[in-house]
Amino acid sequence: MLGQMMDIPLLISSLIVHAERYHGDTEIVSRTVEGASADNGSNVVKGIHRYTYADAHRRAKKVANVLTKRGIVLGDRVATLAWNNYRHFELYYGISGIGAVMHTINPRLHPEQVAWIANHAEDKVLFFDLTFAPVVEKIAALCPKVTAWVAMTDRKHMPALKVDNLLCYEDLLAEASDEFRWPEFDERSAACLCYTSGTTGNPKGVLYSHRSTLLHAMASIQPDVFGMSGRETVLPVVPMFHVNAWGVAYSAPMVGAKLVFPGPGLDGPNLCELFEQEQVTLSAGVPTVWLGVLQYLQANKKKLSTVKKMVCGGSAVPPALIKAFEQDYGIKIHQAWGMTEMSPLGTYSSLKKKHDTLSKDEQFAIEVKQGRGIYGVDLKIVDGEGNELPRDGKTSGDLLVRGSWIIDRYYQIEKSPLVDGWFPTGDVGTLDPDGYLQITDRSKDVIKSGGEWISSIDLENLAMAHPAVAMAAVIGVVHPKWDERPLLVVVKKPGAEVTVAEMIKFYDGKIAKWWTPDDVQFIDALPLGATGKVQKNKLREHFKDYKLP
Ligand code: ADP
Repeated sequence: MLGQMMDIPLLISSLIVHAERYHGDTEIVSRTVEGASADNGSNVVKGIHRYTYADAHRRAKKVANVLTKRGIVLGDRVATLAWNNYRHFELYYGISGIGAVMHTINPRLHPEQVAWIANHAEDKVLFFDLTFAPVVEKIAALCPKVTAWVAMTDRKHMPALKVDNLLCYEDLLAEASDEFRWPEFDERSAACLCYTSGTTGNPKGVLYSHRSTLLHAMASIQPDVFGMSGRETVLPVVPMFHVNAWGVAYSAPMVGAKLVFPGPGLDGPNLCELFEQEQVTLSAGVPTVWLGVLQYLQANKKKLSTVKKMVCGGSAVPPALIKAFEQDYGIKIHQAWGMTEMSPLGTYSSLKKKHDTLSKDEQFAIEVKQGRGIYGVDLKIVDGEGNELPRDGKTSGDLLVRGSWIIDRYYQIEKSPLVDGWFPTGDVGTLDPDGYLQITDRSKDVIKSGGEWISSIDLENLAMAHPAVAMAAVIGVVHPKWDERPLLVVVKKPGAEVTVAEMIKFYDGKIAKWWTPDDVQFIDALPLGATGKVQKNKLREHFKDYKLP
């Protein structure tokens, strides 16, 4: 017997309709790409654009009319190369709202890779921020299926590009009607497409549905997850071109939170200025972003007066970073773990009631883990034969996940990645009896010394606690006896000094002796990928001829 309740599809358009109806006057603030010269409309002052959810909805309907008129229909892919800003937000709703697929491309990839992705997805229209005009000029001839290249700006700022079918966003919107009725269709329809960064081989497309996106957004706002309400002012540093800004572009309108988009200004000074000016309370980004913010605050002896909480993930969060923000600035960093294939949220770190009685140090030891599985995501760890391993907080194994916002198949790839209905994450970790996950490594980064695993993340976290260290990464290098041994690669803080011997000594008493890195190499900068993560494959390549002392 079926239940007898309304069967209303979970569609992305419902979010912006809700935001207008109940939070129509709540602001969306963006740092513009055009900068100070954008002072040409009443909404823009000193390069900062302001409007409301009601305005965003009106303009999303214009986008819908523009696309429909150009023949874009259900299932067509429409791409963006854009920062976090209000026009990108309008596109999120205008594109998915008509049933087309919002395909966010990471603009920091090599232009050839951008072209490869656009061709693989068969994008029909591509919208781009001015910053990426040079990318568009390079790839336009390589992408014959793209019928229109739309510069996300006004007539005054249109770039002079040698590109056929170049259009101006504001001209298109000015001509379009803001009357539009969002269509109803199957909630399992494709809504957005995001390619993994492709550190090994070509990137693979992850095709989210309306249903998966809405369920993920609902799960993410819960009190023990982002804890997002309409009283919050949220600044997503995590890009809208990477896993939909961890869902913030959907969850904020769901609760009616004020949104602040940082545009291209992702450095310490620009972010801190917006945090203060807009009284941001909640933010989200990868550890490298918060390291930049911390260094800026420390160097300039500044404080943040309204930020209460920062969500941090995408790679392991150094405990030293969590401690510094909590002790010196009263800001709580919550670690989250997930991946593109998981929309991305899988776990979120927060304490349980029973932890209230623990000492500060004991609480901290729990908080620095990757967190508990959130409702809707199931996790397990297995050995090499696929046998489930105990959740004892000690036994480490390959991590598998399942849930309603987790990938079933990659876009245009026949073979399913699943193993008995579970998705293998490629991460290695432990689960404790309370369900807290601790990632020890990505399987391809694991260091195997004398048949035993050494966690590169643990070694990096310890190095990051040294006062002279700005960034640290640990890789395995070939060793004649032990197969592999850890090499610590360090970027020093400006003006700071530390020797190899001092760095090695720093590990004394903190880990098993045989885990201690055999050597330390100092370099000017670590290779960072398009999403701000250390590219260990590049680092291994860099040190491929290196010989241990
Ligand atoms: P890619 O880096 O391949 O583009 P994602 O951006 O989807 O993929 O990153 C997913 C991976 O990032 C995870 O599988 C995991 O290895 C790593 N990761 C994400 N969050 C964390 C975290 N909090 N701690 C450790 N590793 C993390």
